[in-house]
Amino acid sequence: MLIEQFLCRTDNFAVLLHNEADGITIAIDAPSGASIATKLNEMKWNLNFLLITHHHVDHTEGIPLLKKETGIIQIIGPEAEKSKIQGLQHTVNDTDIFQIGTCKFEVIATPGHTTGAISYYIPEEKLVFTGDTLFSLGCGRLFEDTSASMFSSLQKLSKLPDNTKIYCGHEYTESNGQFALTIDPNNQALQNRMKDVVTLRSQGKMTLPSTIALEHATNPFLRCTDIAIRKNLGMSHASDEKVFSELRRRKDNF
Ligand code: ZN
Ligand code: FE
Repeated sequence: MLIEQFLCRTDNFAVLLHNEADGITIAIDAPSGASIATKLNEMKWNLNFLLITHHHVDHTEGIPLLKKETGIIQIIGPEAEKSKIQGLQHTVNDTDIFQIGTCKFEVIATPGHTTGAISYYIPEEKLVFTGDTLFSLGCGRLFEDTSASMFSSLQKLSKLPDNTKIYCGHEYTESNGQFALTIDPNNQALQNRMKDVVTLRSQGKMTLPSTIALEHATNPFLRCTDIAIRKNLGMSHASDEKVFSELRRRKDNF
């Protein structure tokens, strides 16, 4: 599986998967039709499938152009958001499994950022596409759903195998990391990650993909059980979900 990830709009990631075994190309989200079409030309790949994580315009705006200008066969997205996403041809729900060519996808419902948001997981390739749910060193804002929903969505993702590579919707790692350091300042893994992130960004490079293991070690939103973080928040005896909710509240005001 060849993967092309690139930035478009301002900080959105576009991702193309190309399976050399069957020649099929799949895009995850459509932040910019023009940028994706240009990349497809450059790679000499023909777009066959488009998978949408949630309805926000910065993930769906490219749909009409891609429909018109590529050989797209099918656009797949969350059943719960079908009325909000124009051009969906096939909808999926939590735990659905579908196959594109030789590649098997599992759907993981990950509400929180939006109520119908989903993530796409490819177990055989150890890849997960989390949209605006799990970011590197952070998580999506709660636009439509409760912190309890987002907390349980992140719990689901955090149980994927450690070596699963994470692709998400935005390059927010550096600003997420600045917040994470205020919450978890003595975390050596976080300090090291931030050094790498600052270097990568100063060279104009992307900080994704991350991995589940790296996020476990560094992302405060996956570390609600951590004793030092809880102590810092003055929440040593609170529930994990309360700790998460407080982290999200602080990040919103950071
Ligand atoms: Zn979004
Ligand atoms: Fe977004």
